[in-house]
Amino acid sequence: MAPQTDTQTRTLLEETRLSPDRLETLSRRIEGDSTAAITVRAPATDTAIGSIPTCTDADVERAVSHARDAQLSWAETPVEERSDILERFGDLVLEHRGELLDLLQLETGKSRQDAVEEVLDIPLTCSYYADTGPSVLAEKRRRGALAPATTARVTHEPVGVVGVISPWNYPLTLSLTDAVPALIAGNTVVLKPDEKTPFTALALAELLERAGLPDGVFEIVTGQGPVVGPALIGRVDYVAFTGSTETGRAVAEQAGRNLIDCSLELGGKNPLVVLDDADVEQAARGAVQACFTNAGQLCLAAEQLYVDESVYDAFLDAFVGETRRLTLGTGFDFDADVGSLIDGDQLERVEAHVDDALESGASVLTGGRRRPDVGPFCYEPTILTDVDPNAAVACEETFGPVVSVEPVSDTEAAIAAANDSDYGLNASVWTGDRERGVAVARRIDCGTVCVNDGYVSGWAAVDAPMGGVGDSGLGRRHGRAGIERYLEAKTIATSRIGPLDAPPGVPASWYARGMVGLTRLQRWLPSVSSLVGRLR
Ligand code: NAD
Repeated sequence: MAPQTDTQTRTLLEETRLSPDRLETLSRRIEGDSTAAITVRAPATDTAIGSIPTCTDADVERAVSHARDAQLSWAETPVEERSDILERFGDLVLEHRGELLDLLQLETGKSRQDAVEEVLDIPLTCSYYADTGPSVLAEKRRRGALAPATTARVTHEPVGVVGVISPWNYPLTLSLTDAVPALIAGNTVVLKPDEKTPFTALALAELLERAGLPDGVFEIVTGQGPVVGPALIGRVDYVAFTGSTETGRAVAEQAGRNLIDCSLELGGKNPLVVLDDADVEQAARGAVQACFTNAGQLCLAAEQLYVDESVYDAFLDAFVGETRRLTLGTGFDFDADVGSLIDGDQLERVEAHVDDALESGASVLTGGRRRPDVGPFCYEPTILTDVDPNAAVACEETFGPVVSVEPVSDTEAAIAAANDSDYGLNASVWTGDRERGVAVARRIDCGTVCVNDGYVSGWAAVDAPMGGVGDSGLGRRHGRAGIERYLEAKTIATSRIGPLDAPPGVPASWYARGMVGLTRLQRWLPSVSSLVGRLR
């Protein structure tokens, strides 16, 4: 078997523009135990493409201390200089996109189109935080307790060393989208990428270095999540975690014990609602993108569609037609719409969800089969109807190219169905009346709701916060919230009149009366006193 595996691997690497020793060069960036190396496999062929060392506890300790040593001088570097380095890094990502796309496809099996979406996200995030960071970090004046006799100002200090733990589905975007604001805020970062997809993260570390990031400011540790993850969380000052709800709970428990803050970007079971006035052709095209991008391995992907019964048949016809037109493939070109699943476990999960739905009475309108002729883990985009509400596919995140469609009697029923979930990450609403769409969006319990779009307009609005409620997580990435989470606000209050207490010789009752009068004045004239405070 071994020679055949080597041949297949070589053939796959030859399809890319990567040099034969490129992965080994990247792997050498990690100091770890090479005797316990983890084999990385290409989903397109299920063959080994390289290996990465496993970081021991001592390796994690060394990486975090290195990051801690570098943090002070990085925080003292003017924010404009930090921003310039990240802007340069964004330029380098665009310049080297060919290699990044190859690496992404090689280790995730995703289609080239999906890989492009991921690469383009990084420069946009860099530019946004390079523009926004300085104003978030600027010192702010606040109203003093007894303006103008006292003043208050707020400074923002970086929390220190940030641990970023990222998943395999978007290894490039989800490793960097949380790291960039942390770096601009003056923190250093230690990233633990998923063990299935370490090479894109290592390529990013190389580009960060070339952009001028000082030594130690961005470190990477690799290894099995349940071992290296806790070793990292136990040593950092903040954790930005993206992954499953189950692991998120373990991360939150450890962060809670250590009294450090964390953001948890977790799973979803995202609803897509088609209202009675929707343009069904447009909604069907949008649903295809919402459901099958990245072969459905996208936390924001729609998995449950609720369609007003008056447009149900027309929508379903269009949706099934559009889905059947999708092409499956694993090539390093733009021919395929949908790529491979990540591995055999994911394929089994997808298959188990479909089989379980079929056993409890569901029908398959299209798809429903694995496609070993295309790739060992390829599965057809699949549409189910008549799904039992207790079936796994109706309750649990599938994280694959499988959706169920259900008619609903009216808008109220659609909103109730969309909210009948423990998750609350992303929802999508389709309507001919945008104002109506916004009104429905306000009533759906999710961190993001896109009207007449699946997820792109929500995710790509980098200026707006993004995250989940319920089992979908805690905290927000993107927007000002995405950088504020990495800062400790510090208040510095100054008194011009010494201690705010009764002056010597003044009886306590007089002082109390005076304070009551002053309190009334402060309440009646808040804007005047804040203006005076700011002028001082
Ligand atoms: P996972 O939780 O198994 O792994 C995610 C990361 O956590 C990996 O780097 C893994 O090595 C690490 N890890 C595993 N055990 C750990 C532990 N005990 N302590 C610390 N780290 C540990 O997630 P997955 O199944 O690989 O990823 C898919 C999941 O991620 C899906 O549920 C998906 O919805 C979710 N996700 C969410 C978002 C979001 O933004 N909300 C984005 C992408 C993926």
